[in-house]
Amino acid sequence: MSESMLDTVLAQFHRAADQIGLKEDHRETMTAFKRILQTQFPVERDDGSFDIYEGYRVHHNVARGPAKGGIRYAPMVSLDEVKALAMLMTWKCAVVNVPFGGAKGGVIVDPAAMSRGELENLTRRFTTELEPIIGPDSDIPAPDMGTNAQVMAWVMDTYSMSRGYTVPGVVTGKPVALGGSAGRQEATGRGLMYVLQDHLRDAGGIQGRKVAVQGFGNVGSVVAKLLQMEGAVVTHISDKDIALHYPTGVDAAAAANYVAQGGTLTEWNEEHGRCEVVDAGDVLTADVDVIVPAAVEHVLTEENAPHVKASIVLEAANGPTTNAADAIFKERDITVIPDIVANAGGVTVSYFEWVQARQYVRWSEERVNEELRRLITAGYQTIAARQMSAKDGATLRDAANWIGIERVVEATELRGIYP
Ligand code: GLU
Repeated sequence: MSESMLDTVLAQFHRAADQIGLKEDHRETMTAFKRILQTQFPVERDDGSFDIYEGYRVHHNVARGPAKGGIRYAPMVSLDEVKALAMLMTWKCAVVNVPFGGAKGGVIVDPAAMSRGELENLTRRFTTELEPIIGPDSDIPAPDMGTNAQVMAWVMDTYSMSRGYTVPGVVTGKPVALGGSAGRQEATGRGLMYVLQDHLRDAGGIQGRKVAVQGFGNVGSVVAKLLQMEGAVVTHISDKDIALHYPTGVDAAAAANYVAQGGTLTEWNEEHGRCEVVDAGDVLTADVDVIVPAAVEHVLTEENAPHVKASIVLEAANGPTTNAADAIFKERDITVIPDIVANAGGVTVSYFEWVQARQYVRWSEERVNEELRRLITAGYQTIAARQMSAKDGATLRDAANWIGIERVVEATELRGIYP
């Protein structure tokens, strides 16, 4: 049977736990899931009929604070996947040291096959199902794959309507007009850029590096744009329909702008087509310095990992690398900058948004970006230093997991078991 996301994340955990000699009872506590909500609920379609959908919200661990994590709408969502992603959120929040535990939610649905009204119905009904467990002190959802600021606005409104007053702190990633944070939309991509900048600080920087980006949604398009602004040459971009090769570099800012206005890369290529259309698989094995998987999980496998030419894998998606591929990268001396620090910019600015919502204040975009740089760089430097001081060839992922696990264990020990 092929490796599932939960297999990947649990194997990474146990590897890290072995390396730091984690006590057996902590191993059990850290792999236990605090709370799982599974629901099947009806959604009215535009023609008056209704369909039943299945959704989940998982709290992995809340020792360090309220549960935090996105909600994804995608056809391949499963309970195991949501559990894996919730566990990653626990370590991610701990690595960047924001005071949250880990959660994730998902609905098995293809949002592209729904009208806007149907998507609103689905979101409002799912929010109603989640109401017993979400709240600004308990569990704060955010966007993830297939969801966006508008979906968060519906979640916020539905939750607020049943309270009788507006509760802006119940979700993050809201539209700025509703108390969303300046800089949240670009935060994941910007955090990826800051981490790569720091990683290459003593190695010549980002300037002139060739980069291939897989996925051109809110994360991939922004990171492509920002890396280009830092002087990188973005030679490959792709979405689920098309992969494009620009030997001398694409105008990533223009392409990002184009998709932000609702266009697709296929349309972009029709309008600006001076490039080569390549196979989707060619993006990750392109002859570049850095590959940025910014689409779905498990795209780097034992099949393509031996053919990767880049020396750096910047994990923008959650879980893009299977364990088999991770081992191959280690063997081949390819550096993987792991998801739980690389893409932590999103949840970091979610934390800033939550703080602003709870204090009814607004930070400037400059302040948000500066604080983001500070937290995510500190997270990266902590794991890089830890990796350097380890004797036995540990990877950055190992070091990130050690830091994440140790911080959660420390909080757990301080709190004790009650009742
Ligand atoms: N969905 C994003 C992630 O995977 C952001 C989560 C959040 O902001 O709570 O990190």
